[in-house]
Amino acid sequence: MIVAGNWKMNVDFSEAEDLIVEIAEGIEEKSPKVEVIVCPPYLYLELATDIEQETNLFIGAQNLSQFENGAYTGEISASLLQSMGVRFSIIGHSERRKYFNETDEILLQKINIALKNEIMPIFCIGEVLEDRDAGKHFDIVKSQLENTVFKLSKVDFEKITLAYEPVWAIGTGVTATKEQAQEMHAFIRNLIAEKYDPTTADECFILYGGSCNAANAHELFSQTDVDGGLIGGASLNAEEFLKIIDIAESITANA
Ligand code: PEP
Repeated sequence: MIVAGNWKMNVDFSEAEDLIVEIAEGIEEKSPKVEVIVCPPYLYLELATDIEQETNLFIGAQNLSQFENGAYTGEISASLLQSMGVRFSIIGHSERRKYFNETDEILLQKINIALKNEIMPIFCIGEVLEDRDAGKHFDIVKSQLENTVFKLSKVDFEKITLAYEPVWAIGTGVTATKEQAQEMHAFIRNLIAEKYDPTTADECFILYGGSCNAANAHELFSQTDVDGGLIGGASLNAEEFLKIIDIAESITANA
């Protein structure tokens, strides 16, 4: 399983320092088999990658530019991230799609440039509430996949971690039910098997994201096709985040 934390645009420098140290120490104590990834704001990546070197923690960015290095003021490229020792990046988070107009076309560019620079994408997909209410959620997710990661070769696709994040569940406190999560994850895995092959589908990590916390992680992560979580709000509290890691660890151990 993978448990990844998305800090978004939160925590000041000293809070970031405390949070990353607490998480790193917690992980050091437990040395879980679960892979733990923390995605702080860019500003704290140096601090985080320094701590990463002494622990089992992996560090990711929350976004990267679709462009190579050059005259793109304010942007951060995949190669700059790679030079900092960053190994993962969230790509296609619904907040990027919504507030920064990131289309599937731009997201595919970002995925390709990440892979070229050995950064593993955590690629987010998911429907908005109107689409779910209209019964279009499967079509939306399918088209998000077909326009982006399904354009990759099998070798490249194998480097992708997917995160199913129903937009209506992000930051709302309304989480998908375990049945809704399992149904969509199984649907995604089936599509991967059809597009590539069953082994590639089995081996793909599909995380759930959307108001996941220590109280609901067990029922979500226990689902056959849920391979962990992408955690927003609950990753800003070290104790809560470590509890979620413990839950993933106990499910892995009993599998
Ligand atoms: C997210 O932003 O990826 C997310 C899942 O947020 P939250 O857990 O706060 O809903």
